[in-house]
Amino acid sequence: MSTKTQTPAPTYLTQLACQRVQDLTPYLSARRIGGKGHIFLNANESPKSEEYQLDCSRLNRYPECQPPEVVSRYAAYAGVEPNQVLVSRGSDEAIELLIRTFCEPGQEEILFCPPTYGMYSISAETCGVGMRTLPPLPDFQPDVAAILDTLQQGKPIKVLFFCSPNNPTGTVLQRDKLLAILDATAGKSIVVVDEAYIEFCPEFSMVDLIKSCPNLVITRTLSKGFALAGLRCGFTIAHPEVISLLLKVIAPYPIPEPVAQIAAQALSDRGLDTMSQRVLWLNRLKAELKAELLKQPCVKQVFDDHGNFLLARFESGSRLFQAMVDAGIILRDFGTKPMLEESVRITIGDEAEMAAVLDVLKSL
Ligand code: PMP
Repeated sequence: MSTKTQTPAPTYLTQLACQRVQDLTPYLSARRIGGKGHIFLNANESPKSEEYQLDCSRLNRYPECQPPEVVSRYAAYAGVEPNQVLVSRGSDEAIELLIRTFCEPGQEEILFCPPTYGMYSISAETCGVGMRTLPPLPDFQPDVAAILDTLQQGKPIKVLFFCSPNNPTGTVLQRDKLLAILDATAGKSIVVVDEAYIEFCPEFSMVDLIKSCPNLVITRTLSKGFALAGLRCGFTIAHPEVISLLLKVIAPYPIPEPVAQIAAQALSDRGLDTMSQRVLWLNRLKAELKAELLKQPCVKQVFDDHGNFLLARFESGSRLFQAMVDAGIILRDFGTKPMLEESVRITIGDEAEMAAVLDVLKSL
């Protein structure tokens, strides 16, 4: 008898799925794309992990829906009240919860300005919610006049997403642009600022506007500055009424007990200090890489530098990408995205990883 498992040819199973799932192309995460290498600089992860303590004495019990210590520590860190904070399975879950909470499938839409993070569109598609996209201005700031115009047309736009610092361009949203958008959408739409990378430039956070702008929502994560991408822990900061609505939609036990314990440690005074040191270190390595990139003749442009990554435009992005692959270094190619021809994103790794990147660059 063969030990091989037989997978029967699918017949009707795919047709049983809802049409929008059949039509869906899933998010191509760095993990899904894969790639053979020994230096992974393609997912904006931290190059180094930390040690944490785990107490297993309560694992027989269901966890709290919103672990109070994590909520209160995050609120203190962000400078808001605990009732303005929601914890979720990464900020990816927060993005989907916002769409599910505020958009009527088929009738209401979201808006965002590509090139930006890919999950806004994937989450909308998964939820059967339509989307409107508008190109940004040449400096990658949102085109406020075009946005305000679009808001007047077609189906209601209930959620607008802005990513700051933007993945992959590293651009931070200008405060006056956000204020104009918040003003025009007050009473009509939710404006989300995705601050996944804000630890690398905290001075650009919009969190202080939460008090005065009830339709502003900020999403954050422990995946980047806190070096905990494997933990899957994200946050939403918003008006308490928005948090209550999201709590109606979120699963009953979204945060596993070990996740809550590790998140609380990461948000302790010591954890915050470690994070700040890491950010200083990575920002220094980023500045060094940027200076070197600008010296290379094959580099045409280095984009904004506010995240833990640098996006650069090369003479030939695909050649650069392949040369790195040949050296076992996996980057992320953005050459097919609007406005990003020949551009490749490099996550800031440790000293040895950055040296390996430079070696390849200089050999080109
Ligand atoms: N927003 C942006 C802009 C991101 O780049 C990412 C992750 N790459 C996320 C959100 C999702 O982060 P999390 O790991 O918290 O789900």
